[in-house]
Amino acid sequence: MAKHPSLKRSTLGMINIDPLQRGGILTPEARDALVEWGDGYSICDFCPGKLEEIKKPPIHDFIYGDLPAFLGCDHARVTNGAREGIFAVMHALSGDGRGGSVVLDGNAHYTSFVAAERTGLDVSLVPVSDQPYYRVDPAGYADVLEERLNSGVRVVLAVLTYPDGNYGNIVDAGKVASICHEYEVPLLLNCAYSVGRMPVSAKEIGADAIVGSGHKSMAACGPVGVLGINEPYAGKVLRTSVHRKNKEIELLGCTARGATIMTLIASFPRVLERVKEWDKEVKNARWFSKEMEKLGMIQMGDVPHNHDLIFFEAPVLYEISKRAKKGRFFLYKELKKRKIHGIKSGLTKYFKLSTYGLPEDDLKYVVDSFEEIISTAV
Ligand SMILES: *Cc1c(COP(=O)(O)O)cnc(C)c1O
Repeated sequence: MAKHPSLKRSTLGMINIDPLQRGGILTPEARDALVEWGDGYSICDFCPGKLEEIKKPPIHDFIYGDLPAFLGCDHARVTNGAREGIFAVMHALSGDGRGGSVVLDGNAHYTSFVAAERTGLDVSLVPVSDQPYYRVDPAGYADVLEERLNSGVRVVLAVLTYPDGNYGNIVDAGKVASICHEYEVPLLLNCAYSVGRMPVSAKEIGADAIVGSGHKSMAACGPVGVLGINEPYAGKVLRTSVHRKNKEIELLGCTARGATIMTLIASFPRVLERVKEWDKEVKNARWFSKEMEKLGMIQMGDVPHNHDLIFFEAPVLYEISKRAKKGRFFLYKELKKRKIHGIKSGLTKYFKLSTYGLPEDDLKYVVDSFEEIISTAV
């Protein structure tokens, strides 16, 4: 037998401030589910031919009951990630690759661009304000839609990244929704960084579709995501195959067919509870940001900040990196020594991090560590 490679994870047990990872840490229930359902196709024992119809384990109740209620949608599905949901909506609304255009906010995630490209849609961007705020003005949607539609372009969808994955900026989504509807263009909310962390309801906002990411924000082992659709768009997005009447085309018949969906369901009761704690999370993020600014860093994006994803410019650390023995890797190494992980190795001048779900003592420890790293270097 070939030698087994070492699969030890060196960062396990450290304080993790990586924005990608904070919201995806498994609950104890999800960790158990992962082992219980780890075998391939384990959930298919009693499948009547459609993922949503599986009653044992209780996938049916989740997809038809809890999930659409949580998202504020008429219909919901589990996908293999936020990006798969974005692509499904774009592709369905474009009418099977008939071309046209999609309007994205200027802070949109790369997956929105790639999904548009795979669908064959042109991209128009709503502008973003300059450093340091990087704000998207909802009125920008009116300007872009007006211009595109007057030029005779077929705009099939608008997307708002809520919040964006760089600055954690939260745009007034309700305003964007009403603008889009004035122009009769459906709106998709990309909530990879919000669904599962903060309360979001597509209906309250007025959005036509919404996607979330299980491994980013719902304490699930990925890849797994959620998709919510409101009428009158469900017929298009969830249309079924002419070849196999019970298989939905955009989902390629079946999506999360194993442990991933079980971890999503296992964590869900705790996710319902944790979104109620959102005010506390925002308070912690603001406190952290203030403390970092006292140390000479500058927080970019919304001020005061409304999300746990925070982007800093850190001239003080950049200056140190120029003299440090390890150069620009000094910050990563100093943090690692203190058992803190999550700022990309090699970054000092600009970086992002997340405070999500960290106890106040840990946040204080992270601030104290930065202070120590700066004061001992000077
Ligand atoms: C992480 C992220 C995604 C991708 O999520 P997946 O579930 O991995 O597809 C999309 N959009 C934003 C804003 C993100 O931060």
